[in-house]
Amino acid sequence: MIPRNVKDDFPILRQKMHGKSLIYLDSAATSQKPQGVIDALVRYYQEYNANVHRGIYHIAEEATRRYEASRGKVAGLINARRPEEIIFTRSTTEAINLVAYAWGRANMNEGDEILATEMEHHSNLVPWQMLAAERGAKLKFVPFDGQGLLDLDVYERLLNERTKLVALTHQSNVLGTINPVKDMTRKAHAVGAKVLVDGAQSAPHMPVNVQDLDVDFFALSAHKMCGPTGAGAIWARYEILDAMPPFHGGGEMIMLVQLDKSTYKEPPHKFEAGTPNIADCIVWSDAIDYLQDIGLDAIRAHEKQLTAYAISQLSEIPGIKILGPRDLERRGGVVSFHLDVAHPHDVAQVLDQEGIAVRAGHHCAQPLHRRLGISASTRASFYLYNNEDDVDALVRGLHVVHRMFSPRTAPVT
Ligand code: PMP
Repeated sequence: MIPRNVKDDFPILRQKMHGKSLIYLDSAATSQKPQGVIDALVRYYQEYNANVHRGIYHIAEEATRRYEASRGKVAGLINARRPEEIIFTRSTTEAINLVAYAWGRANMNEGDEILATEMEHHSNLVPWQMLAAERGAKLKFVPFDGQGLLDLDVYERLLNERTKLVALTHQSNVLGTINPVKDMTRKAHAVGAKVLVDGAQSAPHMPVNVQDLDVDFFALSAHKMCGPTGAGAIWARYEILDAMPPFHGGGEMIMLVQLDKSTYKEPPHKFEAGTPNIADCIVWSDAIDYLQDIGLDAIRAHEKQLTAYAISQLSEIPGIKILGPRDLERRGGVVSFHLDVAHPHDVAQVLDQEGIAVRAGHHCAQPLHRRLGISASTRASFYLYNNEDDVDALVRGLHVVHRMFSPRTAPVT
């Protein structure tokens, strides 16, 4: 159970917006930060700001110790075998690009195939388009059905011995669909393909175990899980990282540099050239502590309950079409919808006047929306600090939208 007063941990949520309490329903874009995380960031800059892996003095050693401890914390969050399997990046986007550049350029050849899905965020699509164009590889896509579930028969038909990589989101940022990653990975491995999972929307909201899922790469961002922006990670099995060439070249990723050639450190340092984002990577661990204190199982259960409530209440709005599966076991706390009377941008603008923050647009998933035959949707996304009162406010706001935009009944003469 999530304590009801968890909202009090998030100072931003005490604000008024247009004279109303701020109701934040855009955690799929970025989550809010608890006071403890904000304080930890200030403490870093006030007490031990120094570069890592270099200085032989107390605060540099403290910064290095905490930076490496945070790597261990991220490893623990997703049950990686060892901290060295976590490479810090800027974000999920950079994590996926790291794989596309470093692993992709060494392993993808003419005629090879990359299998993605039609529900991918642009982050897990555009890097593969770029890689495919450069290496002469082919991109193929698994479609989703009317409920927003992947067509697994088509998936099995598309897998073949030329498939080198399956790139797959764990949880859709639009439909909320939670994909059957473990089962899909088993099938991908049977044809010798590697599996990359975009965990941007899953790791903040449910327990994740990369060893149990048995995937090869898993990408995540700190900012969607109560942590700072500018920190993310790619996880991969150590043997894969060890065999991969570096991503960026520069300081700190080298063993020996000569004018014409260099040798590189072992993972993870081989992939972390230059001064990393020390503060945000360290403070990520405070966010993980916060989430683990509450419990990722409890967060998942809370969001499931809230999603069920939201779907039942939103279904009462005339002319609404709610996207994604109805089965709560197969979806997370992202509820996107389409209203027949108003464009999503108008919906979001009216809701903003009511103090409610939602996302409107294509949510970085244009092909998904094209597949649905719409150009945009409105998305309400929940996190541990949301409750049924927030859903009620959203529903009241949507009734306001409906009254404003519904064609009027015939004027009385
Ligand atoms: N994948 C998914 C499913 C996402 O929702 C997002 C964030 N909207 C990303 C990738 C990209 O994450 P980031 O912006 O942190 O790189």
